[in-house]
Amino acid sequence: MKQQLSELQAYQPGLSPRQLKEKYGIDGEMVKLASNENLYGPSPKVKEAIKNNLDELFYYPEVKQFEVKETLSTFLNVKKEQIFFGSGLDEVIMIISRTVLEPGDEILTSDMTFGQYKHHAIIESAQVKTTPLKDGYFDLDAMYEQITDKTKLIWICNPNNPTGTYLSHDAIESFIKKVPDDIIVLIDEAYIEFAVADDIPNSLELLSKYNQVVVLRTLSKAYGLASQRIGYAIANESLLDQLDIVRLPFNVTSLSAVAADAAIKDQTYLKEMTQKNRQEIEKFLNASFKEHIYDSQTNFIYVNTEEPQVLYDYLIKEGFITRPFPNGVRITMGFSEHNDKMLKVLETFFETHNS
Ligand SMILES: *Cc1c(COP(=O)(O)O)cnc(C)c1O
Repeated sequence: MKQQLSELQAYQPGLSPRQLKEKYGIDGEMVKLASNENLYGPSPKVKEAIKNNLDELFYYPEVKQFEVKETLSTFLNVKKEQIFFGSGLDEVIMIISRTVLEPGDEILTSDMTFGQYKHHAIIESAQVKTTPLKDGYFDLDAMYEQITDKTKLIWICNPNNPTGTYLSHDAIESFIKKVPDDIIVLIDEAYIEFAVADDIPNSLELLSKYNQVVVLRTLSKAYGLASQRIGYAIANESLLDQLDIVRLPFNVTSLSAVAADAAIKDQTYLKEMTQKNRQEIEKFLNASFKEHIYDSQTNFIYVNTEEPQVLYDYLIKEGFITRPFPNGVRITMGFSEHNDKMLKVLETFFETHNS
């Protein structure tokens, strides 16, 4: 067995609503706000598209000819050869790590960010270097200081999971300008569709200017397709040719591709969802306890507290399943009625607990 596996754990999905109800003796409904899914689900056109594509389930998927590749290429104004699909963005992260990293190589990222960058680096026998967040934000100056001649991949999650915070276009561009050309800089934009800030990076522009940039996105969050497992990278063609060698031949299913295609084509629905999300997020950003939460450009908030487990348990008893971290709790937006109740519950929590 690879020795480094002893440092790692299999992904812990958390207890199901039923298990939690039993554990905490709860009678009422429990809402899962722990994984940043879009509770409204995908565009109704997705269901229709899936139903219309049930007759050829016996064929292997023609991954290279997916219509969604054409759709995305037009939508993003990039070449089809610049798009690479994976079974969720998670798989794309794994394939990139497997393609690039050799034992002794280094990856660089921040503490308190998406865990898969580090996880796959360790499996590939690479070293992981991280710097602390600065007031909840990636600290690119500190990260720059950690670059060595072994650094191969730099992962920037923007907006960041779990804090919801983001770095501006200029901040990221001035960083990339300084980074040596042979280091790949990956910008994970899993939440980009939710972002409203004016200075949010135009990452595709960065990609066209700097060959070393890779942009990562998914259908799992704003598009509401987490169950379908489809995400993608946009990058220069020579890198994608290498990823293609490592990729399993049929890594994305035909129905996921059909679902993604229908979802991307319905931008009206996406806009409705993301606007609704923003209204809900702003209720929290303006709440009485606002000093406890980071400014979020996503569909979740990060509540800072010295007693995350206390807050987590408190929320469970109110019927909310959330995600605890060492210094806080991450809460996904639910439906309006959930969020309004959540606001009240958090108000009471911070009135009765002073941290
Ligand atoms: C959810 C998430 C992913 C993975 O998404 P899938 O496409 O569902 O695998 C990747 N990065 C970040 C930051 C995420 O939050």
